[in-house]
Amino acid sequence: MRLLCLLLFVSITANAQRLPVRWDELTAGKWNEALEKSNYTCILPIGILEKHGPHAPIGSDLIHVREWSARATQREYAVVFPDYFYGQINEAKHQPGTFALPSRVVWDLLEATCEEIARNGFKRIVIINGHGGNPNLIRYFIQTQLEKRRSYALYFYTPVADSAYSATVKAMRKSDPAGDGHAGENETSSLLYLRPDLVDMSSATKESGANQQRLNLPASVYTGIWWYGSYPNHYAGEGAKATASLGKVLTDHVIDGFVQALKAIKTDNKTLELQKEFFDRADKK
Ligand SMILES: [Zn+2]
Repeated sequence: MRLLCLLLFVSITANAQRLPVRWDELTAGKWNEALEKSNYTCILPIGILEKHGPHAPIGSDLIHVREWSARATQREYAVVFPDYFYGQINEAKHQPGTFALPSRVVWDLLEATCEEIARNGFKRIVIINGHGGNPNLIRYFIQTQLEKRRSYALYFYTPVADSAYSATVKAMRKSDPAGDGHAGENETSSLLYLRPDLVDMSSATKESGANQQRLNLPASVYTGIWWYGSYPNHYAGEGAKATASLGKVLTDHVIDGFVQALKAIKTDNKTLELQKEFFDRADKK
């Protein structure tokens, strides 16, 4: 009994001493330790709130980035900013549960969030994104970092597939990859792996995830209504064919790549050095 109590005490103490990764779970007294351990690196996970077919949760993209960040930082420490779901999602406003802020609010909030993260001592901010409608916004936002001098560098992680990984996924998939997207086989599979309790597989065939091709334009032409023209149900592909085993492969790939990226970013001084050199030259003009 005494041994059991001792073991219990040791394990509780070990847990209490473990430095949390989430910003909202750190104590103020541990802030400097978190800054140092992360080498002044903060992850900003960006999701969205929008319909995901008839079967997957509104916060699917947020759940992905939350889980990826939590799991990656078990292997490579960085501070994780709390849930952030203020991105570009005007195209889902006809569906229930969509949280679409005005574009200027989205922009200012992202800028103010980065500034606040930096004001708290971080020098490196890493965005990981779960929503297909966000990358244009994120990349343009990062380009505009060069508009004025900053005390921090902003990075955007996106997984890169190698041929071995692509072959594994191809062998496991059951639906046509050409039509697989939002809430389709891949995305539903990773949700089945990460949060099976939130997926209602019995509803996955209640709506069509086929491309409805309602626009009569060549592929070379881009227009804002394109997504609504093709996928008004906010469903692209066949979620019913999803499996948790495929979800594990997809998830491991994202997290392995993210851990590698975090290691590189945490030791990267060159980006900040070049930013400084750039502004020193630009200011002299
Ligand atoms: Zn999604």
